[in-house]
Amino acid sequence: MAYPVYLTLGNIPKALRRKPSKQACVLIAYLPVETDLLKGTGLSQQQIGSRHQRLFHDAMRHILAPLIDAGKNGIHMTAGNGEVCHVFPILACYSADFPEQCLVACAKYGTCPKCQSSAKSLNSSTPSLPRTQQWTLNVMAEAQKSSKTINQYYNTCMSQDVSGSVYEPFWKDFPYTDIHTTITPDVLHQLYQGVIANLIDWCQVLLTPKELDARVRALPPAFGVRHFKNGFSILSQISGPERKHMAHILLGCLVGKVSGKALSTFHSLLDFLYLAQYKAHDDDTLAYMEEALRTWQNSKHLIIELGLHPDLNIPKFHSLHHYIQSIKFFGTTDNYNTEMFEHFHIDFAKEGWRALNKRDAFPQMVNWLSRREKISMFDNYLDRMDSMTSNSQFEPVSFTKPQSCFIAKDPPYLRRPLSTIEEKHDAPNFSRHLKEFLNSFLENPTTNRNAHYYQLPFDRLDVWTQFKFQPNNLSDDSDSEETDTVKAIPKNSPHEPNGRFDPVVVLRSDEAESTGMEGMIYIFNSILFY
Ligand SMILES: [Zn+2]
Repeated sequence: MAYPVYLTLGNIPKALRRKPSKQACVLIAYLPVETDLLKGTGLSQQQIGSRHQRLFHDAMRHILAPLIDAGKNGIHMTAGNGEVCHVFPILACYSADFPEQCLVACAKYGTCPKCQSSAKSLNSSTPSLPRTQQWTLNVMAEAQKSSKTINQYYNTCMSQDVSGSVYEPFWKDFPYTDIHTTITPDVLHQLYQGVIANLIDWCQVLLTPKELDARVRALPPAFGVRHFKNGFSILSQISGPERKHMAHILLGCLVGKVSGKALSTFHSLLDFLYLAQYKAHDDDTLAYMEEALRTWQNSKHLIIELGLHPDLNIPKFHSLHHYIQSIKFFGTTDNYNTEMFEHFHIDFAKEGWRALNKRDAFPQMVNWLSRREKISMFDNYLDRMDSMTSNSQFEPVSFTKPQSCFIAKDPPYLRRPLSTIEEKHDAPNFSRHLKEFLNSFLENPTTNRNAHYYQLPFDRLDVWTQFKFQPNNLSDDSDSEETDTVKAIPKNSPHEPNGRFDPVVVLRSDEAESTGMEGMIYIFNSILFY
């Protein structure tokens, strides 16, 4: 078993960074997990844990040693356009799950790796003083001075919520770096696998699992919303995408069954969850996040009063305090969500593993990866040479996929009279709205009121009842080619006797995108269930 370590540069656009094929994110090491090797050596669990921590820091110091000199004196690097630049790379962000965050920052497990909140004060409505690199190093230095034995050192450090197992953190000599600041929010583990997982558990307690399942099953099918036809409680292992779909419908299932206060408490957490995933932020949207966090902080006592959790000293809930500052420092959370790296894991670790004969695995995997890197560098070189010899311009890189809509060649309802459409397809005032719509395309449009008096030059239309399209993935979603279907089926149709009309949110101008609506159509669908 081994942990992969990936490295990327902060100034590469995130759309490129998350695509393994672009190689903007490179695997620099596999860290050994020595717990396997230490089995049967007679060491205690704590001693094994301590050695694991020291081995991690020793390995990382070795791997990242070139960063110290490069950060101080600079290094020459070739940029994308071929120019050689004098670059001063510094360690800015470190993305990891909570146990690794504590390991990296030398924080005692269970405390906050970013501030001085102890395990018992994580529920506080404000974060404590920030941990700084100097503060942590001082605690270690003081403990070293005052301790005569390893055990004394361990206990002194741990009493101040600093790891007592590490003597020399790997980040000690990095210039312009504060390791506690580099620890970034983690939407996948903190919000979905932490906050949402707890929220679902609490809802099952409040409603009983049976009642929640019944409500989930009763939801009508709608575009973009997964229908859990057997409810939640039957799921034994819940995947990341499943948890996202559960979060979409959770709030709607609570209405009428929990108090208004409990509803707004859950509402504030869900608001925070979705706001934290905006692909762009400004002062307004960050203020929305603050507002959602404040509502949660002011009403979370309800969770304890309802007996859902004894104290709410949960590290993943405490981490919400540090999101806004990290977004201000390092950009939106899709820049450093660990979900991105989980995809790399499939490419770099699992595929590599499959290519081996499983004997003496590490040298073989390193060989496999370095050969793949060389082949792809040579491919890039050939592409570049080709484009230079053919004198063609470089193609501009497109980060977003054009949205494609697909519609059947033949309509299910051919040449339907407008009056029939209004009646049978539940579209009252269809011709009126059609006139307004067509009017908006004119060079000199008249007022909508006037447009109503014009006669349409046709009285029949072909009617389609569905179209398919490929939505833009949210940046933390996979790059798989997902297709969604929007249906508008009239009543008394053979397969849908009650009819089905999917809600659709249409973006009419670019302004909508700046509020983070792009790709967020799922959320707006679930509003209809509230
Ligand atoms: Zn904290």
